[in-house]
Amino acid sequence: MATDLRLPTDKIVRPDKDRFLNEDNPFEGMMSRFDQAAELLDLEPGLYKVLRNPEKQIIISVPVVLDSGEVEVYTGYRVLYNTSRGPAKGGIRFDEHVTLEEVKALAAWMTWKCAVVNLPFGGAKGGVICDPLKMSVGELERLTRRYTSGIMNTLGPDSDVPAPDVNTNERVMAWVMDTYSMHMRHTVTSVVTGKPVEMGGSLGRREATGRGCMIVTKEALKHLGMDVKGTTVAVQGFGNVGSVAAQLLAREGCKIQGISDRTGAYYNKNGIDIDAAIKHVKEHKSLDGFKGGDAIANADLLTLDVDVLLPAALENVITSKNADKIRAKIICEGANGPTTANADAILDQKGVFVIPDILANAGGVTVSYFEWVQDRGGYFWTEDVVNDRLRDIMRTSFADVLRLATTHKVNMRTAAYMLSISRVATVHRLRGVYA
Ligand code: GLU
Repeated sequence: MATDLRLPTDKIVRPDKDRFLNEDNPFEGMMSRFDQAAELLDLEPGLYKVLRNPEKQIIISVPVVLDSGEVEVYTGYRVLYNTSRGPAKGGIRFDEHVTLEEVKALAAWMTWKCAVVNLPFGGAKGGVICDPLKMSVGELERLTRRYTSGIMNTLGPDSDVPAPDVNTNERVMAWVMDTYSMHMRHTVTSVVTGKPVEMGGSLGRREATGRGCMIVTKEALKHLGMDVKGTTVAVQGFGNVGSVAAQLLAREGCKIQGISDRTGAYYNKNGIDIDAAIKHVKEHKSLDGFKGGDAIANADLLTLDVDVLLPAALENVITSKNADKIRAKIICEGANGPTTANADAILDQKGVFVIPDILANAGGVTVSYFEWVQDRGGYFWTEDVVNDRLRDIMRTSFADVLRLATTHKVNMRTAAYMLSISRVATVHRLRGVYA
């Protein structure tokens, strides 16, 4: 018998509806969007309660012997938000500002993201509070291995599959894979995605998030009747997502007028030579000293008079304080949570078309899914096959979200939440509440 999750009351009671939203807290921001979509979907109160809570939250101490011989103890998190649709999926970030609230929000976003693009995964996220830029390779390796062993009980190709995120990369994923495999006493490639291609990684994975951003930006331009050629773009963040998105959009004929990273921002009316900027970062580790544009303030990059703004760094950069100054017609959220919930209403009022994070940056986890499938099948695809399948999924998902937005007269973010929450909810209804 299907579980009736509607009883005993039949209306959602939002616990913090009248409370002032703490704009700095990404979990509250995620939850306010979730609440809004849940009400529109008329979600059963029982299911509403289930989906408001992370399934599992792990907090560990991560002791590391530094190169100096001293021992430092870092704090690590892994949150599994929801696994109803499949193994938990989501990256691991190393950053000084990691908090449990942030990891919880990111794990929830992974749940909705995987559901928006209809991957058979749940959502998770991990983080370690540290400054990787100040650590040696040896220290990073020891940190990664000890963190991995600390969350070993949840890891596994069928239970929890990490990937790169802020300040982690293929090399870090290779250490995660090796640590897990040594514990299992055999090689398990599918326990982690975003690995080097030589050891079970997928072609096209490194570029996948940026490529996905390029694909949905083109879809948005088409929808708004704008020409890709000559479209002006500003990209905030020049890491794996921002640099690739900028490069691919430039190849499609867009003019990338602004780029930035944590060291500074640059503007060039005629378009920045993105290949030169990527070369500069390869040589100097940051954009610092880049000569291909005029230096501007980082905050000013966000309010440039461009067609497309692509925030591709961290959370909470478009807030109630600067949203009214945004001049872009389209925002493509390459980062997770770059816009606060309070800023949403302001952007709506201004008529900005926002491609929400859980759709815009889903290209990364989509190719992670392809990598997991390839590892499990032991059969690897060409880069063209990967890119074609990625393009199909991103286009279909964009169209699915746009259709819902039009039907329900809501913005793209609310539509994306509605689509993903309804997919997760359907599985919960079918599975029922285990007792
Ligand atoms: N860290 C990426 C994200 O936030 C990728 C996650 C994954 O591939 O599992 O979407």
